Amino acid sequence: MCGLVKSKRILLAIENPHALSASAEAIRKAGHTVTLSRSAREALSHAGKGQFDLAVIDCALPEMDGVSFTHILKAAENTRNLPVALICLAGDESTRKEGLEAGVSAFLEKPVDERELLKVVGAPPSELMAAEPPPGKIMVVEDSPIICKAYKIILEKYGYDYHIQQDSNAAIEAIRSYMPDLILMDANMPGLDGYDLTKMIKAEPALESIRIIMVTADTKKQSILKALEAGVVDFLTKPFDEEVLLARMRTHLNNKRLFDDLAAAYHELKTLKDKLELLSITDGLTGLFNHRHFHERLVAELGICSTGGAPVSLILFDIDHFKKFNDTYGHKAGDAVLRAVADVIRDVAGEKGIAARYGGEEFAIILPGATVEKAAPVAETLREKTQARQVEFNGATLTVTISLGVAMWDGKMADNRFIELADKALYKSKEEGRNRVTIA
Ligand code: GH3
Ligand code: MG
Ligand code: MG
Ligand code: MG
Repeated sequence: MCGLVKSKRILLAIENPHALSASAEAIRKAGHTVTLSRSAREALSHAGKGQFDLAVIDCALPEMDGVSFTHILKAAENTRNLPVALICLAGDESTRKEGLEAGVSAFLEKPVDERELLKVVGAPPSELMAAEPPPGKIMVVEDSPIICKAYKIILEKYGYDYHIQQDSNAAIEAIRSYMPDLILMDANMPGLDGYDLTKMIKAEPALESIRIIMVTADTKKQSILKALEAGVVDFLTKPFDEEVLLARMRTHLNNKRLFDDLAAAYHELKTLKDKLELLSITDGLTGLFNHRHFHERLVAELGICSTGGAPVSLILFDIDHFKKFNDTYGHKAGDAVLRAVADVIRDVAGEKGIAARYGGEEFAIILPGATVEKAAPVAETLREKTQARQVEFNGATLTVTISLGVAMWDGKMADNRFIELADKALYKSKEEGRNRVTIA
């Protein structure tokens, strides 16, 4: 056996007495001292009083889960640097993720394997705290060349991707181009100080999510409050300790990564939701609104106009002899014509008109704010432009005509009555020979 084992003080909290004594026994045999707890409250009280090198915590303790326990440890000044190893159920990824976020340094699986436990307990502190530096870019903003050199040595030793910026006046540009995940920010610098630079970063949406740790010898309450107000997430007192620096960096890099993942997932969901919403109101063939949305919008517009006293007009129209058209040229040609008619409708309806495919070869445009005198010429333009529209299909040039009905709302009639009115006018256009506009 190798001779030199540095004895460590371990805080062990497991509810199950058998598991607790088995793990304790293994730790003791390896030459470490161990303090036992069977509850979270007891373990927290030990942690607050004693000087420990590591806390090994069961994820499910009475009174509190291991993640909440870690949050409490990391929030208290005297225990925040105590590394935590969390015992989780195999495959419990969500607890692992939450644990990482809370600042857990290592994970063990239930039932705890003795060798795995001793690996974690025996690991040197630096390894435990920064076994694998989490991916992330570090920027140092610091005017003192000596301190910059100290940072450089540490960051290189642990393989971090980093950039050191000595001139704070040029820092914002450097931050924009390097895009760090974390900034170790000196508080007092000639020129722009750490507080103002933090405020500038937090005010810029593209940089806002960068985590900033203020590194300062100034621990006055006022200075701490000023820094927190500016937007830092943490402090480090100069002269800083390497392990503490690494522990803090690790915690905040992990937090940021989780936050960024969440933000990306949220963005993806939001985009999908927007797409779904659009799909649910759109007609697949023409891209116009569908019947359901047309009806919702009509009801809404009537509501708005009845309170505001503004007019509303409705144009309903239908392609003439479209059955025969399909029979002659085929359904595909019919679809191409429907799409072309939809283009005409979009063009004529403009920004204000609410254009929908009402049914198979029937369309509707709601014209909020339009009297029948305004709506009738719109209907006439629709008729003319549709008739003039030529669709090239399989070498043939195809055209169709439409029959239209225009109605103006009387300020009180129900939506279905209003539609019926326009529909009757449309029917009259059909009866009187098609390719024409009838005003209700
Ligand atoms: P009218 O002038 O009286 O309106 O005669 P019509 O033939 O247009 O009317 P009818 O209601 O008898 O026929 C409507 C036709 O519209 C029948 C159907 O094949 C066609 N149609 C409806 N939806 C679509 C579609 O999505 N694609 C194609 N190609 N044709 C469609
Ligand atoms: Mg300075
Ligand atoms: Mg029809
Ligand atoms: Mg028709």
